[in-house]
Amino acid sequence: MPEAPKNTQKPSDYNLELKNKKTLQFIEDVTSNADEVQKKVLEEILSRNAHVEYLQRHGLNGHTDRETFKKIVPVITYEDIQPHINRIANGDTSPILCSKPISEFLTSSGTSGGERKLMPTIEEELGRRSLLYSLLMPVMGQFVPGLDKGKGMYFLFIKSEAKTPGGLVARPVLTSYYKSNYFKDRPYDPNTNYTSPNQTILCPDSYQSMYSQLLCGLCQHKEVLRVGAVFASGFIRAIRFLEKHWPLLCNDIRTGTIDAQITDQSVRDAVTKILKPDLKLADFIEAECSKDSWQGIITRLWPNTKYVDVIVTGTMSQYIPTLDYYSNGLPLVCTMYASSECYFGVNLKPLCKPSEVSYTLIPTMAYFEFLPVHRNNGITNSISVPKSLNEKEQQELVDLVDVKLGQEYELVVTTYAGLYRYRVGDVLRVAGFKNKAPQFNFICRKNVVLSIDSDKTDEVELQNAVKNAVNHLLPFDATLAEYTSYADTTTIPGHYVLYWELSLNGTTPIPPSIFEDCCLTIEGSLNSVYRQGRVCDRSIGPLEIKIVEPGTFDKLMDYAISLGASINQYKTPRCVKFAPIVELLNSRTVSSYFSPKCPKWLPGHKQWSNKN
Ligand code: AMP
Repeated sequence: MPEAPKNTQKPSDYNLELKNKKTLQFIEDVTSNADEVQKKVLEEILSRNAHVEYLQRHGLNGHTDRETFKKIVPVITYEDIQPHINRIANGDTSPILCSKPISEFLTSSGTSGGERKLMPTIEEELGRRSLLYSLLMPVMGQFVPGLDKGKGMYFLFIKSEAKTPGGLVARPVLTSYYKSNYFKDRPYDPNTNYTSPNQTILCPDSYQSMYSQLLCGLCQHKEVLRVGAVFASGFIRAIRFLEKHWPLLCNDIRTGTIDAQITDQSVRDAVTKILKPDLKLADFIEAECSKDSWQGIITRLWPNTKYVDVIVTGTMSQYIPTLDYYSNGLPLVCTMYASSECYFGVNLKPLCKPSEVSYTLIPTMAYFEFLPVHRNNGITNSISVPKSLNEKEQQELVDLVDVKLGQEYELVVTTYAGLYRYRVGDVLRVAGFKNKAPQFNFICRKNVVLSIDSDKTDEVELQNAVKNAVNHLLPFDATLAEYTSYADTTTIPGHYVLYWELSLNGTTPIPPSIFEDCCLTIEGSLNSVYRQGRVCDRSIGPLEIKIVEPGTFDKLMDYAISLGASINQYKTPRCVKFAPIVELLNSRTVSSYFSPKCPKWLPGHKQWSNKN
């Protein structure tokens, strides 16, 4: 298998050109030999794990070849392995899924039963994640030269972690990565030279973390050549924070002292090394931030910025106009595609338009299979999603090198950490090939209707939440005739909007507080990732219910039919995105109500008492 390039240790013997060349050669090698690499990856995974309970139970009997594996091992979803995951979470250390010890759980933003899914991981996976990161800058350097001459201003954050009853840490994959030695003790490398000191990234208090990262970014504003965050929503949150807090930040830069609200001593110590009194800079920032328009604020404050590095594929594409506005149309660069289950691939043409982004899956990361997705066959956008595949469907899965250009597939992975033929839930379309390795457009996450940040709400969750809320209307003899929803990202942070059309039979008017209770009940019924976004990260604003005039949903149907929808098959969409439809709904809104407070949220899982 091609050997991944290693990091050098000291700045003095750092040869960036050579290192980048080796990295690009690695990509050439693994994509040219994609099928051979995939075969070896599967053999390696299956031979090491030949004795794990899961594979033994399925009767794989030590076979490591693709044919036997595909014949014997079923394609699964999270729910199928949840009992095994629960045993591991409860402290069973026997080799259930993986022969190597499970080092921690990664809490996915995908949920099951309203709780984050728990993805097992092993220590060595950190190396694979680190490898994928190491591919990004050499690729970027082919298109934007000179990035090694300055820094990246990236807003990176850790999130809260919990312990399972068996004592394993459960936390998001990025939190795990930033806390690992791969990130904390990374050797000098111009590719990972950031304006944010590690202490500011690792600060658990999100206000202090954001404040100090912005402060350091402002102090080093001329050195900044690229800016970013993981997802577009996170970057916009940082700009919003700056809008609110620039007077304090300017004050710190003017005086060379750190605001008293920053109490974390390690953060203060790290920032002190960067912050020096600078009247000129403070005046400059103040002048720019007090202008009426914030258009182009990124290029104004960080004038050497060449691109914005954020994911804007998938649901994050809703943020493109806002990013264009703040960055004066700088290139929006989506570098990678990854998940808690596994890191998948990189974008080899990072300067392409967001709508054309494709990710090349790196064949060493895991063993990949692809389940063909036929639009309207019930896999996408349907409430009744078939959970398990029949025998015929199981045989339809194809290997990495056998996918067909233009065809859509659901990604299925077999990882080193104990997931076998696991359906990730993402739908991808083949956009082209890099040597033998396919490149995929990210199409969507199956079934997700609403998303603002990393929350992913599906139709079933929404339906249940609405059902719970309408109980508040019973005493008023009112029922919900129809509803739909919209992810409104014109507000910062964005928020969910529900359009409700009511049938009113009673005579008592419904007081606003009842609708507010409805908002809160919906929020309380949504999954834990949504509630964490509301409560802890404040990345999602209060949910809004808009009451529309009677007859609005008939108008909506008329409109859909005028656009060619079949009258027989018309179903009210449970989420709308198309601007004219949103406008129609807004124009017929008679009143609107917001959730008066945050719903309840606690770290960890419901069933874990949350004392840890
Ligand atoms: P998580 O498991 O919480 O880390 O979320 C992983 C999911 O985020 C993936 O399965 C995708 O649905 C989504 N995701 C990750 N990277 C990208 C990307 N580059 N473009 C679109 N969606 C992405």
